Amino acid sequence: MPIQTTKRALLCATLAFTALSGTPALAQTFPDKPITMIVPFAAGGPTDTVGRIYAQSMTAFLKQQVIVENVGGAGGTLGAARVARSEPNGYTIFLHHIGQSTAPALYRKLTYNAADDFTPIGLVADVPMTLVARKDFPAKDLKELIAYVQTHKDKVTYANAGVGSASHLCGMLLMSAIKADLTTVPYKGTGPAMNDLLGGQVDFMCDQTTNTTGQIKAGKIKAYAVTTKTKVASLPDIPVADTNGLPGFEIAVWHALYAPKNLPKPVADKLVAALQHAVKDPMVKQKLADLGTEPVAPARATPAALDQFLRSEIVKWTRIIKQAGVYAD
Ligand code: ASP
Repeated sequence: MPIQTTKRALLCATLAFTALSGTPALAQTFPDKPITMIVPFAAGGPTDTVGRIYAQSMTAFLKQQVIVENVGGAGGTLGAARVARSEPNGYTIFLHHIGQSTAPALYRKLTYNAADDFTPIGLVADVPMTLVARKDFPAKDLKELIAYVQTHKDKVTYANAGVGSASHLCGMLLMSAIKADLTTVPYKGTGPAMNDLLGGQVDFMCDQTTNTTGQIKAGKIKAYAVTTKTKVASLPDIPVADTNGLPGFEIAVWHALYAPKNLPKPVADKLVAALQHAVKDPMVKQKLADLGTEPVAPARATPAALDQFLRSEIVKWTRIIKQAGVYAD
Protein backbone atom coordinates (compact mmCIF):
# COMPACT_ATOMS: atom_id res chain seq x y z
CA MET A 1 0.00 0.00 0.00
CA PRO A 2 1.54 3.39 -0.96
CA ILE A 3 2.47 5.56 2.00
CA GLN A 4 -0.11 8.26 1.10
CA THR A 5 -2.92 5.71 1.05
CA THR A 6 -1.83 4.28 4.38
CA LYS A 7 -1.80 7.75 5.90
CA ARG A 8 -5.23 8.51 4.52
CA ALA A 9 -6.57 5.20 5.85
CA LEU A 10 -5.11 6.02 9.24
CA LEU A 11 -6.66 9.47 9.21
CA CYS A 12 -10.05 8.06 8.22
CA ALA A 13 -9.82 5.44 10.95
CA THR A 14 -8.94 8.14 13.51
CA LEU A 15 -11.84 10.31 12.41
CA ALA A 16 -14.23 7.36 12.56
CA PHE A 17 -12.97 6.45 16.02
CA THR A 18 -13.30 10.08 17.10
CA ALA A 19 -16.91 10.24 15.92
CA LEU A 20 -17.82 6.92 17.48
CA SER A 21 -16.19 7.49 20.82
CA GLY A 22 -17.55 11.00 21.26
CA THR A 23 -14.55 13.13 20.31
CA PRO A 24 -11.81 12.03 22.74
CA ALA A 25 -9.85 15.20 21.89
CA LEU A 26 -12.60 17.14 23.63
CA ALA A 27 -12.02 15.18 26.81
CA GLN A 28 -8.50 16.56 27.01
CA THR A 29 -9.26 20.14 26.06
CA PHE A 30 -12.66 20.75 27.66
CA PRO A 31 -13.13 23.27 29.09
CA ASP A 32 -10.77 25.73 27.44
CA LYS A 33 -13.00 28.78 27.93
CA PRO A 34 -15.62 29.94 30.46
CA ILE A 35 -18.83 27.95 30.88
CA THR A 36 -22.22 29.65 31.16
CA MET A 37 -24.60 28.26 33.76
CA ILE A 38 -28.13 29.35 32.88
CA VAL A 39 -30.34 29.90 35.94
CA PRO A 40 -33.94 30.38 34.80
CA PHE A 41 -34.87 32.91 37.51
CA ALA A 42 -33.86 36.42 38.52
CA ALA A 43 -30.53 37.22 40.21
CA GLY A 44 -30.51 37.33 43.99
CA GLY A 45 -33.19 34.62 44.36
CA PRO A 46 -32.99 31.07 45.74
CA THR A 47 -32.04 29.21 42.55
CA ASP A 48 -29.49 31.89 41.74
CA THR A 49 -27.99 31.43 45.22
CA VAL A 50 -27.71 27.65 44.82
CA GLY A 51 -26.35 28.10 41.28
CA ARG A 52 -23.62 30.51 42.39
CA ILE A 53 -22.46 28.24 45.21
CA TYR A 54 -22.12 25.29 42.81
CA ALA A 55 -20.59 27.47 40.08
CA GLN A 56 -17.86 28.54 42.52
CA SER A 57 -17.00 24.94 43.39
CA MET A 58 -17.12 23.73 39.77
CA THR A 59 -14.91 26.66 38.73
CA ALA A 60 -12.24 25.48 41.18
CA PHE A 61 -12.45 21.91 39.87
CA LEU A 62 -12.57 22.67 36.14
CA LYS A 63 -10.04 25.52 36.34
CA GLN A 64 -12.32 27.59 34.12
CA GLN A 65 -14.88 30.16 35.16
CA VAL A 66 -18.46 28.90 35.47
CA ILE A 67 -20.49 32.08 35.05
CA VAL A 68 -24.13 32.30 36.10
CA GLU A 69 -26.49 33.93 33.61
CA ASN A 70 -30.04 34.67 34.79
CA VAL A 71 -32.73 34.05 32.18
CA GLY A 72 -35.90 34.55 34.23
CA GLY A 73 -39.55 34.51 33.18
CA ALA A 74 -42.53 32.17 32.72
CA GLY A 75 -41.68 30.07 35.78
CA GLY A 76 -38.31 28.94 34.42
CA THR A 77 -39.52 27.85 30.99
CA LEU A 78 -37.82 30.70 29.08
CA GLY A 79 -34.40 29.69 30.41
CA ALA A 80 -35.11 26.01 29.74
CA ALA A 81 -36.12 26.79 26.14
CA ARG A 82 -32.88 28.75 25.64
CA VAL A 83 -30.78 25.82 26.88
CA ALA A 84 -32.70 23.30 24.75
CA ARG A 85 -31.75 25.37 21.67
CA SER A 86 -28.07 25.76 22.68
CA GLU A 87 -25.07 23.93 21.24
CA PRO A 88 -24.35 20.68 23.11
CA ASN A 89 -20.68 21.50 23.66
CA GLY A 90 -20.53 21.78 27.45
CA TYR A 91 -20.21 25.56 27.45
CA THR A 92 -23.90 26.00 28.26
CA ILE A 93 -25.18 24.19 31.32
CA PHE A 94 -28.47 24.59 33.13
CA LEU A 95 -29.34 24.65 36.81
CA HIS A 96 -33.08 24.30 37.36
CA HIS A 97 -35.36 22.90 40.02
CA ILE A 98 -38.59 20.93 40.42
CA GLY A 99 -40.16 23.22 37.78
CA GLN A 100 -38.49 21.10 35.09
CA SER A 101 -40.92 18.34 36.05
CA THR A 102 -44.06 20.45 36.54
CA ALA A 103 -43.85 22.58 33.37
CA PRO A 104 -44.90 19.78 30.96
CA ALA A 105 -48.25 19.51 32.79
CA LEU A 106 -48.70 23.21 33.59
CA TYR A 107 -47.99 24.58 30.10
CA ARG A 108 -50.13 23.51 27.20
CA LYS A 109 -47.41 24.59 24.79
CA LEU A 110 -43.73 24.15 25.53
CA THR A 111 -41.12 24.54 22.79
CA TYR A 112 -39.00 21.79 24.34
CA ASN A 113 -39.37 18.33 25.82
CA ALA A 114 -38.30 18.53 29.47
CA ALA A 115 -37.00 14.96 29.63
CA ASP A 116 -35.66 14.36 26.11
CA ASP A 117 -34.11 17.67 25.06
CA PHE A 118 -31.48 17.77 27.82
CA THR A 119 -28.48 15.73 28.87
CA PRO A 120 -28.84 14.99 32.58
CA ILE A 121 -25.71 15.68 34.64
CA GLY A 122 -27.03 15.02 38.16
CA LEU A 123 -29.13 16.09 41.11
CA VAL A 124 -27.78 18.96 43.17
CA ALA A 125 -29.74 19.71 46.37
CA ASP A 126 -33.22 19.45 47.93
CA VAL A 127 -34.29 22.75 49.44
CA PRO A 128 -37.07 23.14 52.06
CA MET A 129 -39.61 25.93 51.72
CA THR A 130 -41.00 28.37 54.27
CA LEU A 131 -44.40 30.04 54.52
CA VAL A 132 -43.58 33.70 55.14
CA ALA A 133 -45.41 37.03 55.27
CA ARG A 134 -44.64 40.73 55.51
CA LYS A 135 -43.40 41.73 58.95
CA ASP A 136 -46.65 43.39 60.06
CA PHE A 137 -49.01 40.70 58.75
CA PRO A 138 -51.77 40.29 61.39
CA ALA A 139 -51.63 36.48 61.95
CA LYS A 140 -49.30 35.34 64.75
CA ASP A 141 -49.04 31.63 63.88
CA LEU A 142 -49.93 29.21 61.07
CA LYS A 143 -53.44 28.48 62.37
CA GLU A 144 -54.22 32.19 62.53
CA LEU A 145 -52.72 32.66 59.08
CA ILE A 146 -55.00 29.98 57.63
CA ALA A 147 -58.06 31.47 59.35
CA TYR A 148 -57.12 34.98 58.18
CA VAL A 149 -56.68 33.86 54.56
CA GLN A 150 -59.96 31.93 54.64
CA THR A 151 -61.80 35.03 55.85
CA HIS A 152 -60.08 37.62 53.66
CA LYS A 153 -59.58 35.27 50.67
CA ASP A 154 -58.50 37.10 47.51
CA LYS A 155 -57.72 40.31 49.44
CA VAL A 156 -54.51 38.60 50.53
CA THR A 157 -51.79 39.03 47.90
CA TYR A 158 -49.43 36.17 47.23
CA ALA A 159 -46.07 36.66 45.48
CA ASN A 160 -44.56 33.95 43.32
CA ALA A 161 -42.05 33.42 40.51
CA GLY A 162 -44.61 32.55 37.81
CA VAL A 163 -46.47 29.41 36.81
CA GLY A 164 -44.15 26.42 37.21
CA SER A 165 -41.99 27.99 39.89
CA ALA A 166 -41.68 26.34 43.29
CA SER A 167 -43.39 29.30 44.97
CA HIS A 168 -46.32 28.89 42.57
CA LEU A 169 -46.50 25.16 43.23
CA CYS A 170 -46.40 25.63 47.00
CA GLY A 171 -49.10 28.33 46.81
CA MET A 172 -51.25 26.08 44.65
CA LEU A 173 -50.98 23.25 47.19
CA LEU A 174 -51.74 25.67 50.03
CA MET A 175 -54.81 27.15 48.32
CA SER A 176 -56.15 23.71 47.59
CA ALA A 177 -55.45 22.53 51.20
CA ILE A 178 -57.26 25.47 52.83
CA LYS A 179 -59.83 25.91 50.05
CA ALA A 180 -59.24 29.62 49.57
CA ASP A 181 -57.91 31.57 46.59
CA LEU A 182 -55.31 34.26 47.14
CA THR A 183 -54.52 36.99 44.63
CA THR A 184 -51.34 35.96 42.82
CA VAL A 185 -48.60 38.48 41.98
CA PRO A 186 -46.02 36.93 39.61
CA TYR A 187 -42.34 38.01 39.40
CA LYS A 188 -39.32 36.84 37.40
CA GLY A 189 -38.04 35.17 40.53
CA THR A 190 -38.57 35.34 44.25
CA GLY A 191 -35.45 37.54 44.55
CA PRO A 192 -37.44 40.59 43.33
CA ALA A 193 -40.59 39.24 45.04
CA MET A 194 -38.74 39.26 48.36
CA ASN A 195 -37.98 42.98 47.91
CA ASP A 196 -41.71 43.67 47.66
CA LEU A 197 -42.46 41.46 50.67
CA LEU A 198 -39.86 43.38 52.66
CA GLY A 199 -41.42 46.63 51.47
CA GLY A 200 -44.91 45.42 52.41
CA GLN A 201 -46.26 45.68 48.82
CA VAL A 202 -47.32 42.01 48.95
CA ASP A 203 -48.61 40.03 51.93
CA PHE A 204 -47.44 36.50 51.62
CA MET A 205 -45.04 34.09 49.91
CA CYS A 206 -43.97 30.47 50.07
CA ASP A 207 -40.28 30.48 49.27
CA GLN A 208 -37.13 28.41 49.62
CA THR A 209 -34.94 28.64 52.72
CA THR A 210 -32.05 29.65 50.43
CA ASN A 211 -33.87 32.98 50.01
CA THR A 212 -35.72 33.41 53.31
CA THR A 213 -33.29 32.31 56.04
CA GLY A 214 -31.37 35.60 56.24
CA GLN A 215 -34.53 37.72 56.28
CA ILE A 216 -36.22 35.49 58.89
CA LYS A 217 -33.17 35.60 61.16
CA ALA A 218 -32.95 39.37 60.78
CA GLY A 219 -36.62 39.64 61.80
CA LYS A 220 -37.51 41.38 58.53
CA ILE A 221 -40.29 38.96 57.60
CA LYS A 222 -42.60 36.67 59.59
CA ALA A 223 -42.13 32.90 59.19
CA TYR A 224 -45.05 30.57 59.93
CA ALA A 225 -43.85 27.11 58.97
CA VAL A 226 -41.36 24.98 57.08
CA THR A 227 -42.65 22.57 54.45
CA THR A 228 -40.51 19.57 55.43
CA LYS A 229 -41.63 16.72 57.71
CA THR A 230 -38.98 17.67 60.25
CA LYS A 231 -37.66 21.03 61.45
CA VAL A 232 -34.90 22.76 59.51
CA ALA A 233 -31.68 22.86 61.58
CA SER A 234 -30.82 26.45 60.70
CA LEU A 235 -34.36 27.63 61.61
CA PRO A 236 -35.02 25.76 64.87
CA ASP A 237 -37.85 28.06 66.01
CA ILE A 238 -40.00 27.62 62.91
CA PRO A 239 -42.64 24.88 63.24
CA VAL A 240 -43.43 22.19 60.71
CA ALA A 241 -46.54 22.82 58.54
CA ASP A 242 -47.58 19.15 58.63
CA THR A 243 -48.17 19.11 62.42
CA ASN A 244 -49.32 22.70 62.84
CA GLY A 245 -52.48 23.06 60.81
CA LEU A 246 -51.62 21.67 57.39
CA PRO A 247 -51.55 17.87 57.70
CA GLY A 248 -49.72 16.15 54.86
CA PHE A 249 -48.35 19.44 53.54
CA GLU A 250 -44.86 18.64 52.32
CA ILE A 251 -42.67 19.98 49.56
CA ALA A 252 -38.91 20.04 49.01
CA VAL A 253 -37.52 21.77 45.96
CA TRP A 254 -35.09 19.45 44.22
CA HIS A 255 -32.49 21.07 42.00
CA ALA A 256 -30.51 19.49 39.18
CA LEU A 257 -27.88 20.20 36.55
CA TYR A 258 -28.35 19.60 32.81
CA ALA A 259 -26.82 20.39 29.43
CA PRO A 260 -28.49 20.41 26.00
CA LYS A 261 -29.19 16.95 24.57
CA ASN A 262 -26.52 15.05 22.61
CA LEU A 263 -23.69 16.27 24.80
CA PRO A 264 -20.55 14.28 23.87
CA LYS A 265 -19.86 11.70 26.58
CA PRO A 266 -16.31 12.86 27.43
CA VAL A 267 -17.65 16.37 28.09
CA ALA A 268 -20.57 15.04 30.13
CA ASP A 269 -18.12 12.95 32.16
CA LYS A 270 -16.07 16.05 33.01
CA LEU A 271 -19.18 17.93 34.11
CA VAL A 272 -20.32 14.97 36.21
CA ALA A 273 -16.86 14.89 37.83
CA ALA A 274 -17.15 18.62 38.59
CA LEU A 275 -20.60 18.09 40.12
CA GLN A 276 -19.31 15.15 42.16
CA HIS A 277 -16.56 17.44 43.44
CA ALA A 278 -19.12 20.13 44.34
CA VAL A 279 -21.47 17.85 46.32
CA LYS A 280 -18.52 16.75 48.47
CA ASP A 281 -16.96 20.23 48.76
CA PRO A 282 -16.87 21.47 52.41
CA MET A 283 -17.43 25.06 51.19
CA VAL A 284 -20.65 24.01 49.42
CA LYS A 285 -21.78 22.01 52.47
CA GLN A 286 -21.18 24.92 54.83
CA LYS A 287 -22.87 27.54 52.65
CA LEU A 288 -25.91 25.33 52.07
CA ALA A 289 -26.12 24.37 55.77
CA ASP A 290 -26.29 28.07 56.67
CA LEU A 291 -29.26 28.31 54.28
CA GLY A 292 -31.16 25.32 55.64
CA THR A 293 -30.11 22.66 53.15
CA GLU A 294 -27.33 20.32 52.03
CA PRO A 295 -25.95 18.82 48.81
CA VAL A 296 -27.44 15.53 47.62
CA ALA A 297 -25.55 12.30 48.34
CA PRO A 298 -22.95 11.67 45.59
CA ALA A 299 -24.94 8.67 44.29
CA ARG A 300 -27.76 11.06 43.32
CA ALA A 301 -25.43 13.51 41.58
CA THR A 302 -25.24 11.28 38.50
CA PRO A 303 -26.89 11.29 35.04
CA ALA A 304 -28.72 7.98 35.61
CA ALA A 305 -30.15 9.06 38.98
CA LEU A 306 -31.36 12.38 37.55
CA ASP A 307 -32.83 10.85 34.40
CA GLN A 308 -34.83 8.29 36.36
CA PHE A 309 -35.92 10.81 39.02
CA LEU A 310 -36.94 13.51 36.50
CA ARG A 311 -39.11 11.08 34.55
CA SER A 312 -40.81 9.84 37.72
CA GLU A 313 -41.40 13.42 38.89
CA ILE A 314 -42.99 14.33 35.53
CA VAL A 315 -45.42 11.44 35.95
CA LYS A 316 -46.16 12.36 39.58
CA TRP A 317 -46.76 16.09 38.98
CA THR A 318 -48.75 15.53 35.79
CA ARG A 319 -51.22 13.50 37.85
CA ILE A 320 -51.41 16.07 40.69
CA ILE A 321 -51.67 19.08 38.36
CA LYS A 322 -54.33 17.48 36.16
CA GLN A 323 -56.36 16.70 39.29
CA ALA A 324 -56.01 20.31 40.43
CA GLY A 325 -56.98 21.52 36.93
CA VAL A 326 -54.30 24.26 36.76
CA TYR A 327 -52.88 25.44 33.44
CA ALA A 328 -50.82 28.29 32.08
CA ASP A 329 -51.12 29.52 28.52
N1 ASP B 1 -36.56 29.37 42.24
C1 ASP B 1 -37.19 30.65 41.98
C2 ASP B 1 -36.19 31.76 42.05
O1 ASP B 1 -35.03 31.53 42.12
C3 ASP B 1 -38.32 30.86 42.87
C4 ASP B 1 -39.34 29.79 42.77
O2 ASP B 1 -39.19 28.81 42.07
O3 ASP B 1 -40.33 29.96 43.43
O4 ASP B 1 -36.59 32.89 42.04
